[in-house]
This record gives sequence, C-alpha cells and structure tokens, in this order.
Amino acid sequence: MKLYSTKNTKQHFSFEYAVMQGIAPDGGLFMPLELPVLPGEFFRFEQNTFQSLCFDLASFLLSDSIPVLELERIITKSMTFSAPLVTLSDQISVLELWHGPSLAFKDFGAQFMAQVMSYFNREHQHPLNILVATSGDTGGAVAAGFHKVPGINVIILYPKGKVSHLQEKQLTTFGDNITALEIKGTFDDCQALVKQAFADPSLTDNLRLTSANSINIARLIPQMFYYFEAFRLRGYPSHNNVVFSVPSGNFGNLTAGLFSKKMGLPINKFIASTNINDIVPSYLKTGEYIPRRSVETLANAMDVGNPSNFMRMLHLYGSTWNNLKQDIIGYSYNDDQTVHAIRTLYNNYQYTADPHSAIAFLGLNDFINDSLQMDIDGIFLETAHPSKFKTTIDQALQTEIAIHPNLLKAASSPGSKFILPVDYHEIHSFLLDNFAN
Ligand SMILES: *Cc1c(COP(=O)(O)O)cnc(C)c1O
Repeated sequence: MKLYSTKNTKQHFSFEYAVMQGIAPDGGLFMPLELPVLPGEFFRFEQNTFQSLCFDLASFLLSDSIPVLELERIITKSMTFSAPLVTLSDQISVLELWHGPSLAFKDFGAQFMAQVMSYFNREHQHPLNILVATSGDTGGAVAAGFHKVPGINVIILYPKGKVSHLQEKQLTTFGDNITALEIKGTFDDCQALVKQAFADPSLTDNLRLTSANSINIARLIPQMFYYFEAFRLRGYPSHNNVVFSVPSGNFGNLTAGLFSKKMGLPINKFIASTNINDIVPSYLKTGEYIPRRSVETLANAMDVGNPSNFMRMLHLYGSTWNNLKQDIIGYSYNDDQTVHAIRTLYNNYQYTADPHSAIAFLGLNDFINDSLQMDIDGIFLETAHPSKFKTTIDQALQTEIAIHPNLLKAASSPGSKFILPVDYHEIHSFLLDNFAN
C-alpha cells in the first residue's frame, strides 16, 4: 500500500512511514493511493472465521508492505475477539463491536496498530515510547493494545478528575510497559504537554518518541474488517439493500466503511448518526462545512466539533458534495432523544444499548421511515458496552445494569499512577529519568 498526503497528492509514502509518523510532514492525513476492488470470487471465498477473513483482506491490502507470514501473525495476535451480529427485527440488526479488552470498538484499531508498530520496530535496539493524551476511551484501548508488546512503552497523560473512576482504572491497572500520568489540569493541558514533548529535541534526541494518534492509518484498516464480517455473517447476500448506521465523532469508523465500499463491498448507504455536534449532518444538508466548539453530551466519545477524518471523506469523493451525499445521509439527536432511544431499545427489543449506539439506532429508524424503499437490511454499529456508561443507562431504565467482568476486574485492582502538575519541566525530567536510551 502506498499513501499520499491530503495536503499534497503528488508526494507518496510507504505504509511503514505512514504508520510510524502518524501524520504527513506537511500536516496532512495519509490516504491510500488506491483501494483496489476485490475480485468477484472474494465474496465466494469460504472464510470460515472472522480471523481468516481479516487475513485475506490484510494480505490483499498490505502484502507489498509486510510479508504474508508476518501478516498472519499480526492478525492472529490482534483480531482475537468477535463482532457478532444480533437481529432485533426484520429490518434492524446490531453489529456488536465491544467484545475487545477495553469494551469499545477502538480495540480493533489499537490492537492491530500495536502489532504492526511492533513489527516495524523489530530491528531497533532502543525501545519506542508512545506518548498519548486521553480524555477517556482512546487511552484504555491503546493501553490494552500495547500491553506487554516487546520493545514499546506507552505513557498516558490524563486529566485529574475528568475521566470516570472506571475509565481511570482502565488506564492505571495494566502496569508493565504501561505508565499512567495523572496531570493536575485539563485534557487540553495534557495535549499541549504531549505536543511540546514531540517538538523538543532535548527529549527526542535522547529517547524514541511517537504517538498513537486516532488518525493513524493503521487504526483505520482493521476497522474495515468488521463491515466485511457483517456480510460474511449474512452469507454474502445477493441483494444490495444493506445500510449501516454509524455513531460518529471523528468519523474514523464511517471512513473505514467508505473504504470497504470502494473495495467493492456492496453497501447501499451509510447513515452518519451524531449527537448535537452535527457538523457533518449539516454539511450533508447544506454543502457548507462549518466546524465549531464541541458541546458536551451523554454520548461523550462523539463530542467533536471538527471531525479529524472529514478531509479523508472528501478526498474519497473528489471533494464533491453531490457525490458524498449520494452515499451518506446524516441525522443528529439531542440527549433527551438519546435517553428515549435507550428506553425504546430496552422495551421493544429487550436490548440494552450504550448512548452512542442508541443514537445510531435512531438514525437507522429515521432512515427506514423516511425511505421509500421497503426491503432495507439495516445494521447499526454498537461501539461500546453499555456498562461503560452505567450511570446514564441506570437512570434511563430506572434499574441497575450489570457491570461487564472486564471492568469489574480492573475496578478491583489497586492500579498505580504518577501525579504531576501542568509543568513541562517536570514532565521532561520524568521522561528522561525513566525512558532515556
Ligand atoms: C470513539 C467513539 C465513537 C466515535 O467514533 P469515530 O470513529 O471517532 O467517529 C463512537 N462511540 C464510541 C463508544 C467511541 O468510543
């Protein structure tokens, strides 16, 4: 796979360079130069398992960048959990993407990226140090992905008092090569400290530093796998009435779906379902892209005011609004509607959904109601396990839902962290003292 930068389509980069750098030197996002269309036989392959499907796709896309035997090892080590499809009604199913270690769909990207980085890092004598700022879900998935991966350390900065108790446990209880730094400041402070570290030669000359940014192309590729998996689980239906409703924030998940369609997966439409941070649904309606400050909602992993993957979506459609809106339709919902949807799913389908997925369900429902087509095969993506948002769900349903065993395990471990002020000099010394070559 060769890539270009969204800021300069003429310069091309290797997959290794794109993964290890995260972002192009000109500040653009890496995009695949081509997404080859799968041969028709692909959909008649007898992939018996999710892993064999992932391996076939990874080989098709990446065998010019990573030897096939290594790809097999990477898939075996990273795609270790399933993506089951649960039928709720004739027209509505849910693809559950929370069966990974941190109970969010971000595990697919983080697990795969960790194994790929470890492969590209294999010949280095000094460890690679990954510095991430997190406000919640990303840190937990990255920590789980890189835990015990040889030759790589992860240092997570998170804001004191701004992540939930359980989320903090998910960051602080790994130990080994995962270090948690609680910063006495905000998420923005954490992000500024990370930025400053990357730009500081007195650090980067003495320890190998990189990021595990959500825009890394190695996180998008494995997110294609589960769109194909939904079709495999359906037995590759001959109709082309499948629509996916994707609960979206930075739009990585939906972009991976668009990649899959480019490769020939016969997806009829994508529904971009958002909370009131409706920058993309507004764009789809008006043709004007107007980023703004994000607003806090119950579906907080989607509180994004300037979605980082929007440029990628535009590039896929030749930057043409008319083309984009043929494939994607947008809907947005407020917190009251989200709570109402959590109740509807529970009462009508005996299904407990987290707030993000409830929004995807609303988008799918409205699409079905607004559409003239009768035979829609609708699938909404469930991006997190509901017990990660226990307080919201308990209030909506007037009950006490069970906490997933993975969370209980983290909750009962003591955990360890370092507490540091918002002071670059202290972070600088901490990193040099603990991680210098
Ligand atoms: C990150 C996240 C999202 C948003 O995904 P994007 O790829 O940024 O659009 C949705 N739901 C949950 C639970 C998440 O953690």
